[in-house]
Amino acid sequence: MIGGGLAGLSSAVALAETGFRVHLLEKRPHLGGRATSYTLPDGSEVDNCQHVTLGCCTNLSDFYKRVGAADKIRFYDRLYFVDKEGKRSTIEASWLPPPLHMAPSFVKFGALSLADKRAIASALLEVARAGGKPAGVEGISMLDWLHRTKQTPGAIERYWRVVLVSALDEELARMDARYGIEVFWKAFLGSRKGYRVGIPTVPLAQLYEGGKLAVEKRGGEVRLRCGVREIRIEGKRFAGAILDDGSALAADACIAAVPQETLLNLTPKEMAQAGHALEGLSHLENSPITSAHFWFDRPVMSEPFLTLLDHATQWVFNKTLLIGGAGSRNGNGAAGANDKNGQYLQLVISASYDLVQRPRQEIIEMCRKELAEVLPATKSAGLVKATVIKEVNATFSPAPGVDRWRPRQDIGFGNFFLAGDWTSTGWPATMEGAVRSGYLAAEALAAAVGRNDKFLQPDMPFEGLCKVWAEKAARSRSKS
Ligand SMILES: Cc1cc2nc3c(=O)[nH]c(=O)nc-3n(C[C@H](O)[C@H](O)[C@H](O)COP(=O)(O)OP(=O)(O)OC[C@H]3O[C@@H](n4cnc5c(N)ncnc54)[C@H](O)[C@@H]3O)c2cc1C
Repeated sequence: MIGGGLAGLSSAVALAETGFRVHLLEKRPHLGGRATSYTLPDGSEVDNCQHVTLGCCTNLSDFYKRVGAADKIRFYDRLYFVDKEGKRSTIEASWLPPPLHMAPSFVKFGALSLADKRAIASALLEVARAGGKPAGVEGISMLDWLHRTKQTPGAIERYWRVVLVSALDEELARMDARYGIEVFWKAFLGSRKGYRVGIPTVPLAQLYEGGKLAVEKRGGEVRLRCGVREIRIEGKRFAGAILDDGSALAADACIAAVPQETLLNLTPKEMAQAGHALEGLSHLENSPITSAHFWFDRPVMSEPFLTLLDHATQWVFNKTLLIGGAGSRNGNGAAGANDKNGQYLQLVISASYDLVQRPRQEIIEMCRKELAEVLPATKSAGLVKATVIKEVNATFSPAPGVDRWRPRQDIGFGNFFLAGDWTSTGWPATMEGAVRSGYLAAEALAAAVGRNDKFLQPDMPFEGLCKVWAEKAARSRSKS
C-alpha cells in the first residue's frame, strides 16, 4: 500500500482483517493524508483543516468502527446558521417522515423569503420524486440546473450556495449538477439522519492509531517517513517499488493510494498517454480550501459551529467546545490558547480561489471583520494568535462531466490497483469517497487472487416517501 491517507488506510485495514499481510508506506511522519493534524511549535495540535462527516457517509462510519474511532465522532442534530446582522436560524429534523422531516424548521428559517422557500421546495420535490436522479442533468453545472428550476437569487445565495460550496469545494457554476443534487438527496431528503454533522472530538491524527495497530497485529507493517519514488510496471504488472532512500521493495500486489498528480510522477510516462490506463488524470483540476485559526483570550462563541450566510467565511467551528476542555493543550491533545480560559475558533473557506494569492495577514483581517459581525464578543476579546492554512490542491474539482476522467480501482493490470478520492467512486472528493475507493481497491485485489471479499457498505436506506420514489425510479431505470 503506497499512501497512508484514508484511501490507503481503509484498504490496508480491510485487507489485513481478511488475512493479507500488508506493508503500508507513507511519506509523511503521520497517517491521515489530507485529513490529519499536526503539532505547532508551541505544542498545540491543530487539524490541517476542520473535517466533518455526515450521517449518510456509511463507509467512513464503517472505517471508524474498524479502527475503534467511532466513539470519537460526535454527531449533531441541529445545524446553526447566522446572517450578516447576526440573526440565527437552525435546521433540524422533526418527527415527520422523509422528505418532510426538515419542513418545520425550513418553514421557520428566517434568512429566506417566502418566494425563496417556494422555489427551493419545488426543486427539492422534483429531486425526491425522481428518486434523486432528475432527468436532463448530465454534464450541466449546478448553477444551470438552479436557473432551470427557477431558483430566486436569494435561494441561490442563501441556501444552495451555502450548503454546496462547502460540501463540494467548488463554485456552483463549476460543479456537476449531479453531485450537487446528490448532496441534497442523500443528506437532506432521503433519510432522517443523513444530514447529521459528525465532528471528531480529538485531533484528526488520533483517529488512525487503530488502523496502524490493525495492520501490525496481523503481521504487516506501517512505515512512516517512507516515501516511494518510483513504481515499476513491467508488461502491465506491478514489478516493485523504489523507495526515496534508493532501496527496492517487492510485493505480490500493490495498491497506489497517493494523490493523482503524485501517481503520474511515480509511474511510467506512457501510462498517462492517450488510450492508456491513467489517460484521464491530467484532466482533473484541483480546488483550494483556506482555513483561518484564531485563539482568543476569552469565550466568544457558544454554539459548537456556525454556518455563515452572506460572508466569504462559510463555517466557524468552536474547536475548544468540539474537542472538549477549554484551552487545554494536553490530555486529549486539544488545541487551545495559552490562556486556559481562552477559545480557539477555526474558520473554513472552500473554493477559496480569491484567497490563494492574498497575503495571510489580509485574510486574517478579513476573517476577523466577519467574525465581529456574527460573534460581537470577538470585538473586545484579545487575539492571542492567529494563523492561516492554505490548501491550494485541497480536492479535485467536481466539474461537469468529471466522472469520465476518473479511473476505476481495477485498471486491468492484474496485481496493480488504484485508490484515492479521485478514483471512480460516484462520490466527490470527501473522506467517504476516499474510504469507498479504498474498499473497492481491496475488493479488486482480493478478487484477483480468487477471493470474494466484500467491504463496500450500502448507502443509508431511504425512508418514507423517498423510499417509495427511489424504488420506483430504480424500476423505471432498469426497464429502460
Ligand atoms: C482543507 C481540506 C478540508 C477538507 N474537508 C473535508 C471535510 O470536511 N469532509 C470531508 O469528507 N472531506 C474533506 N476534505 C477532503 C478529504 O480530506 C479527502 O478527500 C481525503 O482525505 C482524501 O484521502 P486520500 O487517501 O484519497 O488522499 P490523501 O489524504 O491525499 O492521502 C494520500 C497519502 O499518500 C501519501 N503520499 C504521497 N506521495 C507519496 C509517496 N511518494 N510515497 C508514499 N506516500 C505518499 C501522502 O502523504 C498522503 O498521506 C478536505 C480536504 C482538505 C484538503
